[in-house]
Amino acid sequence: MLCQKCNRAKAEIKLPYLGLRLCKGCFCKLIERRVKKEIRSKKLINEKEKVLLLDNNSKEARISEHIIKTAYNHRVELLKVKVNLLKIGFLSREVKEIIKKNKIKQVIIPWNLDDEIIYFSENLFNKGNFNYLSHFKQNKTSYIKLLRNVLESECLLFARYRKFKFKKKTEKDKQRKDIKKMLDKINKKHAETKFSLLKSIGQLESLLI
Ligand SMILES: [Zn+2]
Repeated sequence: MLCQKCNRAKAEIKLPYLGLRLCKGCFCKLIERRVKKEIRSKKLINEKEKVLLLDNNSKEARISEHIIKTAYNHRVELLKVKVNLLKIGFLSREVKEIIKKNKIKQVIIPWNLDDEIIYFSENLFNKGNFNYLSHFKQNKTSYIKLLRNVLESECLLFARYRKFKFKKKTEKDKQRKDIKKMLDKINKKHAETKFSLLKSIGQLESLLI
């Protein structure tokens, strides 16, 4: 079967929530366009200022780097800092120093749609702390979840198709693992579940924060 977008290349991926079969090239373009739209519509990045990527060697870090470079044609000054353990809202002393030294006002967090839903669910039932929901600000620095509207499964395909080298993430936290399992199970039956949840989180955001 041929790709339903370009009608030239072989369709290799089925997007159930869109009812589309796409080739590798069209799939990657679709993801890039979705992320660029998020950047534009929410005015996430000021290209005159430096951007710092928290690099935990994940596929999300590689994809974020790739999209920033291609979207801005290397015009944006992108710095990277190695982060071994990513804990949202908390920075190591080393990262804080880099932010200070380079007067960083925009930081990219390697974070996908599944991460966002899991974070939301975890805090809804447990801690009730939504400080780091969506893109957020802390001490005049913007924290940007560039891949907030890209599924974990889509990130995996994108990274594979672009032949990125990355470290596989393993979730050790039992509660997060359980939430993830449940979400994947529901999403298998209703392909639009995760996107709908993200939309609902967006609507609730103004009430929660
Ligand atoms: Zn195609």
